[in-house]
Amino acid sequence: MEKFDIAIIGGGAAGLSCASRLSELNKKAKITVIDACDRLGKKLAATGNGQGNVTNVNMSSDKYFGGNKKLVENITCSQTALSTEKNLFKCILIADEQGRVYPGGKQASALCDSLIGDLKRANINVKLSTKVIDVKSENGRFTLSLSNDSCVYANYVVLCVGGKAQKQFKTDGTSYALAEKFGHKITPLYPSLVQLKTETKHIKTLKGIRVDCVLSAISNGKILAKKRGDLIFTDYGVSGNAVFAISPYLVDKQNVILSIEFLPNVENIAEDIRRKKALGYDNSELLSGTLHNQVGRAIIKRANTSDELVIAALLKNFTLPVVGSLGFDYAQVTKGGVDMKDVSEELESKLCKNLFFAGEVLDVDGECGGYNLHWAFTSAYTVAEVISKRLK
Ligand SMILES: Cc1cc2nc3c(=O)[nH]c(=O)nc-3n(C[C@H](O)[C@H](O)[C@H](O)COP(=O)(O)OP(=O)(O)OC[C@H]3O[C@@H](n4cnc5c(N)ncnc54)[C@H](O)[C@@H]3O)c2cc1C
Repeated sequence: MEKFDIAIIGGGAAGLSCASRLSELNKKAKITVIDACDRLGKKLAATGNGQGNVTNVNMSSDKYFGGNKKLVENITCSQTALSTEKNLFKCILIADEQGRVYPGGKQASALCDSLIGDLKRANINVKLSTKVIDVKSENGRFTLSLSNDSCVYANYVVLCVGGKAQKQFKTDGTSYALAEKFGHKITPLYPSLVQLKTETKHIKTLKGIRVDCVLSAISNGKILAKKRGDLIFTDYGVSGNAVFAISPYLVDKQNVILSIEFLPNVENIAEDIRRKKALGYDNSELLSGTLHNQVGRAIIKRANTSDELVIAALLKNFTLPVVGSLGFDYAQVTKGGVDMKDVSEELESKLCKNLFFAGEVLDVDGECGGYNLHWAFTSAYTVAEVISKRLK
């Protein structure tokens, strides 16, 4: 039977950074990282379209949803895991014009390599293609039962098993049961940062077209959220940054309508149409050149009139009722998770001493733009520092 000081369950963004930081703070600690995938950091390597949007310069607890705002603020705004000079990847980080921060090489897989390198140099034990199927705590020590019928012992356990988004990364939601075994409650789970299904009657001809827009989500007359960004029309509805950004605000809401404002901040559209009418343009061409031709024609067809005021109004408020989302298989992140009420400020279980949590498994999720990886890294750093102090 193998014995460790610390067993980290899950070798994703949180698990890898927790192990890396622990080995830095406590060279003698005997650590194992156990992951169900055949490679460490598989999801991390796929983030940000393979470029790894690791954090954001506009960090604030307002960017997060879920339990215990104060705790999230303390962790996300005070941790140094992602400070630009001395970050956990030991590489140059650069911000784009929207504040999204990437590694200089814009290669997410290189971030994994960097963390895996830390683990190798520190001789950390790694078990791949191995799922932890049970954890028990007896006499102040944990016993972990593994899918290969073996067991390991550990004095501390860090649960970094992620959530339920994109089960091809072995994050299918079954591992919440490991927390439930200790009496932890799991808040309702929803897919977030996800594509939306809408009524498609008016967008059938627009598949694949990308527009820059202001996108609002409205439910029963109330604006739930309003975001500027890219929107891509698809055969099921809409995708793109603006859609991902708005999706966290829609969970559990009924009768949601999306309102697309094409050409944000352009006011003289009716005048433009009037001019084209005076020049004898065909009805279907009244928005030609002003918008992508197919989008212009779809708007005019829906307006069903050549009245410039009706067309201009539709261009500012093109509505699409939401009928659902693409669900967990396509979502970037899980909304909900281990209830923060039973988790201390140090991210330790209040129900079982020496059991810690980090990353997406907790009921904390962020907006689009690097906030979710930032939470994974900074929560993992917090746990590493607490455990390291206790080991000394
Ligand atoms: C396609 C995609 C793109 C994304 N892009 C970004 C981005 O650019 N910026 C950003 O901030 N966020 C992004 N995210 C979200 C971000 O990747 C996650 O929030 C983050 O990876 C969560 O880290 P984690 O370590 O908590 O969980 P994960 O990275 O999901 O790691 C959990 C690990 O636990 C393992 N595991 C689960 N159960 C067990 C078990 N019982 N035993 C052993 N191992 C287990 C899994 O195999 C997995 O490797 C993206 C997500 C996706 C899917």
